[in-house]
Amino acid sequence: MMPDAAITTATAARGAISLSGITRIFAGSVPAVDGIDLHIEAGEFFTLLGPSGCGKTTLLRMIAGFETPDAGRILISGKEMQDVPAHQRAVNTVFQSYALFPHLNVAENIGFGLKMRGVKGPERARRVDAIMELLQIGAFAKRNAAQLSGGQRQRVALARALVNEPEVVLLDEPLSALDAKLRNELQIELLRMQKRLGMTFIFVTHDQHEALVMSDRIAVMSKGKLQQVGPVLDVYEKPRNVFVAEFLGLSNIWPFEPLGGGTVQTKLGPLQISADINTHRMAMIRPEKIWLYNDNNIPEGRPNIFRGVVKEAIYMGASTQYRVETGNGQVVLALDTNNAAAERSWRAGEAVAVELKPDNIMLIEA
Ligand code: ATP
Repeated sequence: MMPDAAITTATAARGAISLSGITRIFAGSVPAVDGIDLHIEAGEFFTLLGPSGCGKTTLLRMIAGFETPDAGRILISGKEMQDVPAHQRAVNTVFQSYALFPHLNVAENIGFGLKMRGVKGPERARRVDAIMELLQIGAFAKRNAAQLSGGQRQRVALARALVNEPEVVLLDEPLSALDAKLRNELQIELLRMQKRLGMTFIFVTHDQHEALVMSDRIAVMSKGKLQQVGPVLDVYEKPRNVFVAEFLGLSNIWPFEPLGGGTVQTKLGPLQISADINTHRMAMIRPEKIWLYNDNNIPEGRPNIFRGVVKEAIYMGASTQYRVETGNGQVVLALDTNNAAAERSWRAGEAVAVELKPDNIMLIEA
């Protein structure tokens, strides 16, 4: 938790955001957002990730000024936002459902906000053209909003937010209505655009894959609270607790008792681990960090190798997911890449061995 003075100086950068103690309690219910402290750097692609109802949208709406916190402070670019109404904040929001003006064409839709702010014709046209080029929608400039596909409409909605050159862009699940292919394309494009423009992006999603692809840093939320904040790689590779580990992909998790000497006892068997055994109570390893061997090719003299049988092999194109049941009835999830170096794959019923290398086992909180 940062003292207020530190927050004020830290946020002097244009586009930085500081939240301290932000709380929102809707009448007669538990807090939707519960004492959030968070600093977002200028120019960061920052994602709020969490299950439905965890408070992501409410938090975003408070930053935008559409919702008022019951407690706490919001600073944008170092400025206190308490008495600043939504339309005077240096933020623009892109929503999941994007209401374009049906009677205006694409260029007019994009330029509408600038027109309202009194930006004159030639300057407006220049800025609208530039943003249409960036988003590759110039070809539809004269089309009506009703004549666009979902993906094209979403590009127009993004252009409409970006053309105002806000310090901060807030995006509330802007891609969730699109099909998988278009969604993947727009994710990469949005990311490139954000890096090029240097604006701060705060992105809300419940899709862990989307969060991993796009973000510099992620905040994982649950029940109005932050569970973990950090760079994508840290949060995925070193989740703090079971909630974060399970929300960000597949994992194998066993409770343990310390045995001493870098070894812990789990239901799978004794595990040698590299991490310091402290107050953590769970051992976690990602499926892609599990090594699989043929029954007749098991390495000797190494710890954490368990024999088992493949119960299920799910081919997923680029990878195959295996459910291996060990001799003592524990299930180990393993994921193997079907790349050029892949020596082989396994079928259900085959006898195999799994190896959990000590360096790949993380200790997490319950
Ligand atoms: P989703 O991904 O489903 O949009 P979310 O994480 O964005 O979920 P919020 O929309 O922020 O979650 O909602 C958080 C909690 O606050 C939920 O329990 C929701 O029902 C409640 N809530 C949100 N808006 C209101 C409101 N205007 N009045 C009462 N309760 C609300």
